[in-house]
Amino acid sequence: PAADVDLKEHIRGIPDFPKPGILFYDISTLLRNGPAWKAAMARLAEKVRPYNPTLLAGIESRGFLLAAPLALELGLGFVMLRKPRKLPGATIGYDYELEYGSDRLEIQADAVTPGDRVVVLDDLLATGGTMAASIALLRKAGAAVPAAAAMVELTFLDGRRRLDVPVETLVAYD
Ligand code: 5GP
Repeated sequence: PAADVDLKEHIRGIPDFPKPGILFYDISTLLRNGPAWKAAMARLAEKVRPYNPTLLAGIESRGFLLAAPLALELGLGFVMLRKPRKLPGATIGYDYELEYGSDRLEIQADAVTPGDRVVVLDDLLATGGTMAASIALLRKAGAAVPAAAAMVELTFLDGRRRLDVPVETLVAYD
């Protein structure tokens, strides 16, 4: 049964990816296992539902793999937060700093409307920089953000500290 699934058994650590010294937590192995993916989505649904979102947002690209099925499960719409120049029509962007250089996320200008409560999802929370930028972008676009959620959290990086919303996660590594 879904309650017995140990999600960590389905997530593998890959050393030295994308560069030497980094241990990358690969969720591909969880996604390719039907019962594990289903159990993860059911647990996320329980954690996200109490925030009463009106929409879910996913961060390109692995965030889409959680946010879209979760939106279906909760009977909500889904919006994409994407890398620059991927979205057609009018967009709103938010630039943010990385360890080396900067990056940008965009949303379609009409994707959210004032009054929307958008919970934002990604596969993994590390330093929290990506999630912080996503929350800032959603606010810039006019939405309220009651919470953020991710399947995996690297607690030693303390990404939560950078976020001013509650963060729901399923699995932690320290
Ligand atoms: P942060 O901005 O919190 O430092 O990094 C989180 C972002 O980088 C997320 O979009 C996530 O997909 C990606 N990321 C960083 N490290 C890992 C990792 O070990 N595994 C996975 N699956 N994604 C990672």
